[in-house]
Amino acid sequence: MSYNLYRQIPKTDELLAMASIRSLIENHSHNLVLDAIRTVLETVREGIKNGVIMEINAGIIEKMVADTVDKMTTPSLRTVVNGTGVILHTNLGRALLSKEAIDAVVDVATNYNTLEYDPEEGKRGSRYTHIEAQICKLCNCEAAMVVNNNAAAVMLILGAITRGKEVPVSRGELVEIGGSFRVPEIMEQSGTILKEVGATNKTHPRDYENAINENTGALLKVHTSNFKIMGFTESVGLSEMAEIAHSHNIPLIYDLGGGSFADLADLGIEGEPTVFECAKTGADIISFSGDKLFGGPQAGIIIGKKEYVDKMKKHPLTRAFRCDKMTIAALCATLNAYHDMDQAKKDIPTLNMIFMSNEEMLRKAQTLQKKLKTIKGLDVQVVSELAQVGGGSVPSQMLQTKCVSLKAENMKTSELEEKLRHLKRPIVTRVARDRVLFCMRTTKKEDFGYIYEALKAVLGE
Ligand SMILES: *Cc1c(COP(=O)(O)O)cnc(C)c1O
Repeated sequence: MSYNLYRQIPKTDELLAMASIRSLIENHSHNLVLDAIRTVLETVREGIKNGVIMEINAGIIEKMVADTVDKMTTPSLRTVVNGTGVILHTNLGRALLSKEAIDAVVDVATNYNTLEYDPEEGKRGSRYTHIEAQICKLCNCEAAMVVNNNAAAVMLILGAITRGKEVPVSRGELVEIGGSFRVPEIMEQSGTILKEVGATNKTHPRDYENAINENTGALLKVHTSNFKIMGFTESVGLSEMAEIAHSHNIPLIYDLGGGSFADLADLGIEGEPTVFECAKTGADIISFSGDKLFGGPQAGIIIGKKEYVDKMKKHPLTRAFRCDKMTIAALCATLNAYHDMDQAKKDIPTLNMIFMSNEEMLRKAQTLQKKLKTIKGLDVQVVSELAQVGGGSVPSQMLQTKCVSLKAENMKTSELEEKLRHLKRPIVTRVARDRVLFCMRTTKKEDFGYIYEALKAVLGE
């Protein structure tokens, strides 16, 4: 019986001769399709052996080959629709680049460029010169440099300035970010000795004073980006810490994390000082991420006193942590936008989403609602909700937002959410009160057509 089944399996050559398979070969390659056929035939033989395949049907095998080719050619890293409302979603790639930044990336990636070349002198230049002057001007600081991400920035700062020395850090600031960046571990890796001071909820100036001795290399403040301690809490502010550090002739290092250039207090978001303000309050070295509130590419931006930044530039880790020309190009273009904050809020997607007005969100929501309402069996409402900035930034404060909220007549909400997520181009949404939500801050207008077609397909319309 099963012997017969084996004999009915089409031969590779027979499959290769089928019209549908020939067109697959035209669109992809002979070797890839051949690979897919072999994989499918193996699966079929296994299926017969295990008794799950009871009959052989050439049409089904053809479809299996097409599906396998599709799987093999779909990149694992692909774009999604972010309906979640989390603007800086670490799992979804954090900040989106501005059009200007993308153009700059394409330009340096497709042409030879002056990455490390000084055309005036006709000799070697430095990749850091392209951004330093601009950052210094915007942040009003002496020196700046850039590495791959903020974790690398912190590691480099400590490695260059405090290796072999003690650094007191408040117990309330020993954070873990994103599951892999942990302040105590980074300090250990950099060869710095962590000296814990204060308590989880309270740290006083005297705690730092008492911890400083002749082997103290610096004071370190870490922005508690992704959590908030409520109740009876006390911490030492940046300017007070700077005073303590300077009275002992040691620098104050600040891991700022998010690093906003725009004033978020305008939106009622507290506790997220701008980079400019932090630089003014006396920290000697500040580092922050390029792809969080700054709204640029993944990078770790370091600003501060020249004597310290010079030490970092010469440190061997700098070579290991150096960023790519595409990052530098995107950073330059993003920095450029900040010379005019109103323009920055238009051009830089992260800022655009954070500062999006209620009227604009309502307009977007009504446009999407109108489109989706034509799908049978789908209830479509516009609702007010709260959105997170996200990305380990501003954890306790939410932004008012407008959402398009969906409920299907003949499909459970959890199933609808899952089907949308399983699409070849996934649509990631949020479920609340048994409805699927699309937040208008993060859902792009350009994707409305795709969302409409996807919902029709998923609901079998
Ligand atoms: C996000 C964050 C980091 C890590 O930055 P990456 O750019 O993700 O490497 C470090 N410290 C703080 C306080 C952060 O918020």
